[in-house]
Amino acid sequence: MQSTTPSTGDRIEARCTKCRKNTDHTIVTMAEEVPAEVQCSACNRQHKYRPPTVAKPPGLRQSLLHKDNERKEWELLRPNMNTAKATEYSMHDAYKAKALIKHPVFGIGLVQRVIGSQKVEVLFEDGKKTMRCK
Ligand SMILES: [Zn+2]
Repeated sequence: MQSTTPSTGDRIEARCTKCRKNTDHTIVTMAEEVPAEVQCSACNRQHKYRPPTVAKPPGLRQSLLHKDNERKEWELLRPNMNTAKATEYSMHDAYKAKALIKHPVFGIGLVQRVIGSQKVEVLFEDGKKTMRCK
């Protein structure tokens, strides 16, 4: 892996604390096989080498959190659901908020709100889903 070993003067991507992002840097000094001091090509600041930060996929944590909240909501509401009253879901029926439905795939669901025309938001054990309705 000799060809991938960086050396003084090489361009390298590094984290710049002044730019607050990953920028192109020129290696100023090396320590063993890793850069020690680098110079940022964007702000020309010379600083200790920091590996570039790996961008986290945006929205992933957010959506996990979202899922978690929906799960909590489900667990909170579940004891009050009278499943005997749940009606078989059909996209040809009209639903109101707080109606209980039974879906062949998602199971018991609680209609949370009517979204515009012909759509309802339903909370299932699996999370919220938008369902078609009359
Ligand atoms: Zn910089």
